[in-house]
Amino acid sequence: MQTQGVAGFITESGGQLSHTAILARSLGIPAIVGVHSARRLLRDGDMVLMDGSAGLVDADPHEKTIALYRKRQRVQKRATRELEKLRDAPAETTCGTAINLFANIENDDDIKALRRANALGVGLYRTEFLYMNRDDIPAEEEHFQVYSKIIRSLKGAPFTIRTVDLGADKQTAHTEKGPQERNPALGLRGIRRCLKEPALFEPQLRAILRAAARGPVNILLPMLTNVDEVVQTRALLNQVREALIAEGKKVGEDIKLGGMIEVPATAIAADQFAKELDFLSIGTNDLIQYTLAIDRIDDYVNYLYDPLHPAVLRLIKMTIDAGRKRRVPVSMCGEMAGDERFIRLLLGLGLRDFSMPSNSLLAAKKVILGTKLRDLRKLSDSFIEETNRERRDAILQKINAELAPED
Ligand code: PEP
Ligand code: MG
Repeated sequence: MQTQGVAGFITESGGQLSHTAILARSLGIPAIVGVHSARRLLRDGDMVLMDGSAGLVDADPHEKTIALYRKRQRVQKRATRELEKLRDAPAETTCGTAINLFANIENDDDIKALRRANALGVGLYRTEFLYMNRDDIPAEEEHFQVYSKIIRSLKGAPFTIRTVDLGADKQTAHTEKGPQERNPALGLRGIRRCLKEPALFEPQLRAILRAAARGPVNILLPMLTNVDEVVQTRALLNQVREALIAEGKKVGEDIKLGGMIEVPATAIAADQFAKELDFLSIGTNDLIQYTLAIDRIDDYVNYLYDPLHPAVLRLIKMTIDAGRKRRVPVSMCGEMAGDERFIRLLLGLGLRDFSMPSNSLLAAKKVILGTKLRDLRKLSDSFIEETNRERRDAILQKINAELAPED
């Protein structure tokens, strides 16, 4: 779509956190998902106006509306150019606290956008895309070539590779050959599938260990629910390492092993996971799905998606606190991390490492540059505990208010 000049797309199904939507966001392609009957209501050749931010489709826009949106487009372009001026500014709050901004990538091409945004490195590389649009699974060498290419272009910047998270909403020809589950979101996905299927996992681990000899690499495990999954993965990593060394292959030495906090159980037991892992990364897309019991690709329950639900925020806070107590870094790589409306709240909860789509990064930096940390902690805590809707809105407004004058 990007190379064919597609201006935007509309789908009849899917939610805002489905991978189609995430990918569209990271490619900067306007998209609106879950528009029921779109194919019945729209005809070939129709002039269609799309407002991706508002989720609005106008199938027969009035001239005045078109003029209004053209103006909006110009304003938006100007704002983007303004943001570009922040590229080289260090991301720090007014009191000088450094905030680490990393990029989420889906393929090697995304490194260009990462450079444009001047991210510190890759905080999340979703490797599933290597497995898509094909019948087989990628061989070790293919993984190795792709990872090596990314490592070369990162020039020493950290590179966090998430091991493959197949299953649930990320189906491929390979998974479709496997068991047909009634409830794939609660089924064999992420690390569960990898540990069950060494033929899937081992080539990727071998390639990561080999690529890590060429630059700094971290490994991130998706969909953890049991500490034992970490123990098993470590054992497998040691086994793979020894086999590679015996074959005379070069392997990376200092590889950090991290885990995604995506399941409420994992957040509640985050202190136990922190004992076994080198870092934690909060995947809010799934954490919200599993906490609020809403299928992230089901547009019928999409209205219940709420990153500000107190239960979600408590789990985020528990994870950040557990990391701090155990001196294990905690980052966030779900879509929430790149949403300007939530950045100060997350800073107030103690988050210092963010990973987001590159094209959200400069806007996030702008928010950070205007943030005074003092008072944020108290405000964020009171936001979580407040149950009255109006008072909650007022607290959030205060958190997001323009920078208070220095005092
Ligand atoms: C998440 O769940 O927040 C996440 C980053 O992983 P994905 O969106 O790929 O499931
Ligand atoms: Mg996830």
